[in-house]
Amino acid sequence: MSAQRSVNPRAELANVPIYDPALDPAALDLSDNTNRWGAPPVASSIASDAAGSLTRYPSAYSTELVAAIAEQLDADRSMIVTGCGSDDVLDAAIRAYGAQGGVLAHIEPTFAMIPAFARANGLQPRAVGLTTAYDTNAAAMIAGASVVYLCSPNNPTGTIIPRETIEQIVREAEGLVILDEAYVDFTGESLVDLVRSSSRLLVTRTFSKAFGLAGLRVGYGVGSPSIIEAVKRARGPYKVSAAAERVAVAALRHDRAWVADRARDATQMRELLFNGLRDLGLEPIPSRANFVLVPVHDANRVSDAMRACGVIVRAFSALTAVSPALAATGGDALRITVGPVSEMDRVLTILREAMIACA
Ligand code: PMP
Repeated sequence: MSAQRSVNPRAELANVPIYDPALDPAALDLSDNTNRWGAPPVASSIASDAAGSLTRYPSAYSTELVAAIAEQLDADRSMIVTGCGSDDVLDAAIRAYGAQGGVLAHIEPTFAMIPAFARANGLQPRAVGLTTAYDTNAAAMIAGASVVYLCSPNNPTGTIIPRETIEQIVREAEGLVILDEAYVDFTGESLVDLVRSSSRLLVTRTFSKAFGLAGLRVGYGVGSPSIIEAVKRARGPYKVSAAAERVAVAALRHDRAWVADRARDATQMRELLFNGLRDLGLEPIPSRANFVLVPVHDANRVSDAMRACGVIVRAFSALTAVSPALAATGGDALRITVGPVSEMDRVLTILREAMIACA
């Protein structure tokens, strides 16, 4: 056999990282903002019953699930697109509306996959720093961008972008505006109704966070029928498996009270975590989500020390200085997922010990 010359991938992919969270099933993992109270009961009870759907393809665009979401939002089915996680919807939307070589403007800091999705789809990411009021500069977000990405509550800050700013961006943007509401169940203050009056807004949501179904990989987008059609074309068929669709439908139809109760638990425990961090002399950022970002010197070393004690949190460095405390650490911070009281006690104890060990 003759030796073959290798083929080269597109150059932009060199700047797209392979996502590699270090998983350790034995540890207390507070790094990914999932539901620490578990999965919803009715959805769980039917999850083991997938056998009937294994040999057949699912519906190409999740007909049943779209119907359940549309019913819940009181929206037309033509306004919903599902995906393999909201990641899939975000990626497809960026592909659908991103001009080749064009700009995707996003708040900074924000969900780390967004610049990667921009590059993978041939766009240049443009980071626009959040202000110290956790707001953003609408004009800087809009100018020349074929896609604008907003996230509220925002990952990793947990903060909310003021409604007026979002409305202004939606009104004045030149391209598609994506509003990522992955954590909206913790605030109860969705802006999804804006899609009724805007033909340039896509709101994305997920079953991975408050709904406790991250392993299922189901998310969705809500927008005008023309946006939804474009995202479907870019996404392609069969992204949500038949089993995942059934479980997600059950969660929406039967588990909403459980999800709301656990979201309430999370907001209560968030205050406990917030106060516990302040008692350690830290200045956490006030969060509206199920995680708290806390500026900590030497965040990577501290998180390594915590991991050695069986607790995983997410370390960040060089974050935009959205608070004086974050400026003081040079942008080093830890993001901690909120969970039941025993987990919060443990993470606070281990964090205190890790900070002493790293001092
Ligand atoms: N958006 C935000 C803001 C997130 O934090 C995440 C997950 N970390 C996602 C989207 C993607 O979630 P999923 O693909 O599980 O729906």
